[in-house]
Amino acid sequence: MSDPLIIPPDDEYNRELVSNVHPPGWVNPEPTERYNLVVIGAGTAGLVAAAGAAGLGARVALIEKNLMGGDCLNVGCVPSKALIRAARACAQVRDAAQFGVRIPDGVQYDFTTAMERVRKLRARISHNDSAHRFTKLGVDVFIGAARFTGPDTIEVGGKTLRFAKAAICTGSRASAPATTRRSRRSSTATVPRSSGTPRRS
Ligand SMILES: Cc1cc2nc3c(=O)[nH]c(=O)nc-3n(C[C@H](O)[C@H](O)[C@H](O)COP(=O)(O)OP(=O)(O)OC[C@H]3O[C@@H](n4cnc5c(N)ncnc54)[C@H](O)[C@@H]3O)c2cc1C
Repeated sequence: MSDPLIIPPDDEYNRELVSNVHPPGWVNPEPTERYNLVVIGAGTAGLVAAAGAAGLGARVALIEKNLMGGDCLNVGCVPSKALIRAARACAQVRDAAQFGVRIPDGVQYDFTTAMERVRKLRARISHNDSAHRFTKLGVDVFIGAARFTGPDTIEVGGKTLRFAKAAICTGSRASAPATTRRSRRSSTATVPRSSGTPRRS
């Protein structure tokens, strides 16, 4: 059974997200005798590989140790575009005068509300990447860390999966330059978790 996961802030939107992409109490299926394809990592690459292969009739297992949707849904494409939209709204208010729109002095920008909208959109979109949706597509979804145990075997959560082909879709991580002081660093992985305004570096 998958470990419970809490994503701060622990609000209705992040709970909806988790219920889709790392469902609490998720019980991994009994592995089939041999999969045509085992996909490690349910980010953009893994989701597309798994859905495509299942659509062609292959027996497919998809393994994710953290959040299905990977960087794109959780910290990358989706949150960043939602934030950029909020920034554009602020810029349009700031520059409105040149279009003949008079905005009274004292307009306030509320980063907390902008971040709540980010989490709301992310939760809504997370249904597309959910464990339940991929199960309905015919994919066996395993929550847990995968590791190869042989040339045609992978272990996850104490279960051994046999495969003809494996796709390693485990993504990558950015590293900060050595010159960046750790205490002042914010990243795409940490900003979506904050609700207050990040400090300027
Ligand atoms: C701020 C930001 C904005 C972005 N905006 C865009 C955009 O607008 N458009 C665009 O096309 N791209 C965008 N990207 C890039 C996009 O997010 C990545 O290209 C994409 O997420 C890569 O997908 P992936 O599946 O290769 O890897 P990931 O998304 O990193 O997924 C890999 C998954 O593998 C899992 N995993 C790793 N090891 C194991 C293991 N042993 N067992 C089980 N699971 C494992 C990880 O938990 C993870 O979920 C953006 C990225 C960032 C950071």
